[in-house]
Amino acid sequence: MATWSISRLRWVLGLSLLALIIPTMVLSWKARQQIKWEALYQQRQLAEELTQSIDNSLQRWLAVEQARPVTQYRYLVNQTQQGHTNYLQRSPLSKLPANDSPPGLIGYFQVDSNGKLETPLLPANDSDAIASGLSSLDIEQRRAISNNITAILSANQLVSQITAVDDVAEMEVKAEEVTASDQAQASFEKLTQNQRSANRSQSLGKIAELDLERGFADAELTTKAKPARKEMRKRTPALAESIATQAPAAPAPTTSTAYAYDSADAGANDGAAPAITIFSNEASPFHLAQLESGHLILFRDAWLNQQRLVQGLLLDQEAFIADSMQQVFQHSSLSQFSNLVVALQGNVLKILPAAGYQRYTLGYSSLSAQDVTGTLLLQSSLSAPLTDLELIFSANRLPEGPGGTIITWVSLVLLLLLFMVFALLYWLGVRQIRTLRQQQNFIASVSHELKTPLTSIRMFSEMLKEGWVSPEKQQEYYCFISDESDRLSRLITNVLQLARMERQELNLDIKPNSVNQLIDLLRSRLSSQVAGTDFTLNFNHDVFQDHQHLHVDPDAMMQILMNLVDNSLKFAKHADNKNIDLHIQKSGSYAVFEIRDYGPGIPDQEQSHIFELFYRVGNELTRSAQGTGIGLALVQQLVSEMGGVIEYVQPKQGAAFRIRLPLY
Ligand code: ADP
Repeated sequence: MATWSISRLRWVLGLSLLALIIPTMVLSWKARQQIKWEALYQQRQLAEELTQSIDNSLQRWLAVEQARPVTQYRYLVNQTQQGHTNYLQRSPLSKLPANDSPPGLIGYFQVDSNGKLETPLLPANDSDAIASGLSSLDIEQRRAISNNITAILSANQLVSQITAVDDVAEMEVKAEEVTASDQAQASFEKLTQNQRSANRSQSLGKIAELDLERGFADAELTTKAKPARKEMRKRTPALAESIATQAPAAPAPTTSTAYAYDSADAGANDGAAPAITIFSNEASPFHLAQLESGHLILFRDAWLNQQRLVQGLLLDQEAFIADSMQQVFQHSSLSQFSNLVVALQGNVLKILPAAGYQRYTLGYSSLSAQDVTGTLLLQSSLSAPLTDLELIFSANRLPEGPGGTIITWVSLVLLLLLFMVFALLYWLGVRQIRTLRQQQNFIASVSHELKTPLTSIRMFSEMLKEGWVSPEKQQEYYCFISDESDRLSRLITNVLQLARMERQELNLDIKPNSVNQLIDLLRSRLSSQVAGTDFTLNFNHDVFQDHQHLHVDPDAMMQILMNLVDNSLKFAKHADNKNIDLHIQKSGSYAVFEIRDYGPGIPDQEQSHIFELFYRVGNELTRSAQGTGIGLALVQQLVSEMGGVIEYVQPKQGAAFRIRLPLY
């Protein structure tokens, strides 16, 4: 079987890991996406409900305003009762403080065809005011509100320039003098036309500038049959009808038929809606507009006794949004993670950031359209006549929820497991490949190691047998044959020992041996091993007592040291210094055997591997000496079987091994 290369293993494992990681990541991403969409969908539903509830409550008071008789916009109202003559009564709008007033109301007003401005708070003159029982303090208060309305309307060129006039009576005189022109009410008509081109300084930006990701909302819209906007408008007539019938000031039959917006043209706020008939007088539906000053104005055309009037309400934008939207929004769970943007005709009026966002910003009053980021949840207009008002909900970061957290953890654990399993597989694979390679090398080198001495032995013995060798050379050849057979026998012993070691059947004969006897034995055997070479064995030892013993197998001890000497002979063959030092010393309760040569030594990075089975330094091409890679592995195993340790010590020059065995 051909062995895999490590780089091939790396490739195969890497690709398999990728093949598993990619689907895992895709699955986890899909699942998280699903959860995110569910959370967005929930938020969107909340947003729809909230918009509906804001719309409903606005429609409730709008229906009341719409149904309000045109006569109520002045302080005194002409009332007729069956059989009785007309009598004057105070308008319900003259109450101060007004109860149930529309959100953000500054005041009601009415402008006649002469441009004369009137508010239901004040009668035409002071004497009427006193006659109707108003205190002077009360009158002061009413005058202040009235002046405010006048100032706002005149500042926006809706009525003539009559500001800075303190006295109401004087003001009215002046108003009459300056204004009698046909254009008095035309300025209101312009309001609706000019709106779109107006570029207000108060605007926080355009809707288009909102930095929102519209993927969710777009996908949602395509899956829904009708956009929310349409649905809301459809619901409006029924709502208006039900409210109109409850409205106290509106006689039911006329109002309900007249006020019901047609769903078909409810979207159009250009006055195409049918006029509303109340008693004998008529009023058009209300229009909403924003003044240059930022105030909101709701106004309608009304006809009273063949006279055209513009009637309406002036609203404070901040207060209107705060009362009708901000409070409900901030009390709903939606505000936890979603922002609400209120816009009029594409201009952002107010940005209400999510609760989480507020925590990170000192003040959010400075927010502008560009600061609103996240996913668009819902963009919907309110019902007529507020169709120009849009509520835009967006979510910055929704909580993951338990599902999301579990998916995150599961994916992380899965990824970690995958990495660990693949790292383990890689490690095992590399080890397997190395062992296989080393085994192949081993077989090749053992064959070689056996063949070479055998060939020489055969050749020399042939020559001796045939009598071709001169008598003086004969001795040398006999020595050579003997040395080579010794080497062969050591190799075979090693291989056999390895086979036993593999089967864990080393069967050593470990018993107490006198250190001195062992030293004598080693000296004679090692000296004869080195004898036929250029090397000198420097054998020295400390003085040991006769009773000092080592618990060892003498044959194994011999095998260990002969292997180490063999290596020195082999690897230091080309060294200048051909000494092999063997020093046996006492070190506490240990006997330490240190054997050293002056050859090339072992490179630092290889030192940790040399005791591995079949491991040989370098590769087959760069290796100068023959070998099988089993010597040191066997040596280490034998030493540890006898309770000792062997380590490699790197001297300045050459190689050194140190064996410690316990002394008894
Ligand atoms: P072998 O000698 O058959 O190659 P060993 O297990 O005895 O196998 O030794 C493993 C490796 O350690 C050798 O291949 C050699 O590179 C290195 N080595 C062992 N002893 C020495 C030494 N005295 N000097 C230099 N290198 C050595």
